[in-house]
Amino acid sequence: MASQQNPLDEEENSKRNWSLKDFEIGKPLGRGKFGRVYVAREIKNKYVVALKVIFKEQIEKYKIHHQLRREMEIQSNLHHPNILRLYGWFHDADRVFLILEYAHNGELYKELRKKGYLSEKQAATYILSLTKALAYCHEKTVIHRDIKPENLLLDHQFYSQGRLKIADFGWSVQSSSKRRTMCGTLDYLAPEMVENKAHDYAVDNWTLGILCYEFLYGVPPFEAESQIDTFRRIRNVDLSFPSTPSISSDAKNLISRLLVKDSSRRLSLEKIIEHPWIIKNANPMGICL
Ligand code: AMP
Repeated sequence: MASQQNPLDEEENSKRNWSLKDFEIGKPLGRGKFGRVYVAREIKNKYVVALKVIFKEQIEKYKIHHQLRREMEIQSNLHHPNILRLYGWFHDADRVFLILEYAHNGELYKELRKKGYLSEKQAATYILSLTKALAYCHEKTVIHRDIKPENLLLDHQFYSQGRLKIADFGWSVQSSSKRRTMCGTLDYLAPEMVENKAHDYAVDNWTLGILCYEFLYGVPPFEAESQIDTFRRIRNVDLSFPSTPSISSDAKNLISRLLVKDSSRRLSLEKIIEHPWIIKNANPMGICL
């Protein structure tokens, strides 16, 4: 799918030496572990972006220097309509600034919490968008390994609720999410990960099953009171479908074929795209009308 031509993707800008003087800074959009995110306007092209500010002190403290650089290089080379663009970066004495595509509609997580759960059409459209983005990543031998609703943003589309964008390539939340993995939620992890076994790209396919369930029911499938219980439920693939909301058998079929313990038997990304539930419900343009 051709992405809209964007001035910051043009040759002269991709090699530009950016500085804070190139931007007018607007309202804060949010706060992450290592700094803040602001809406900003690039002065020359009047192009609106999100500027992520990371304090060098934090980079030192968490020793994420190499990881940050590697992940920035990965994300700036990914060009897909469902992956948030990283246009460039620069730094001053205390801070590193990332110039990111602005996702006008914010976190999908907030939408999900507000609505409780999504319609089958909306859920299928997001799952199809995610599957296409992951197929593109896997082709480039990038395994995301940290897909969860907080890392999914929505852009702005006229007459629609926005196109989904994978926003985080681990660099900023990798250390925090690894921590979270150990002292927070395990909900999105595949059995081979919670059991500390070797894992490959099929962990992303498992996560698609988790997200599909969460989009439709409002909660992840293995949620439990304690981490030990979640761990046990994931390991045993203790999957059940509540009677409300009423969900089609096609949707349940897709989820059951992704949440499979043996990673080699999980439905492939190609097969997800061809699954009857996706064909019937998803908008191939990736927008929810
Ligand atoms: P992060 O540091 O990536 O966790 O970002 C903190 C918060 O800022 C997120 O939860 C989003 O609400 C917001 N945010 C981050 N990046 C963007 C973006 N590119 N467009 C719009 N909002 C963003």
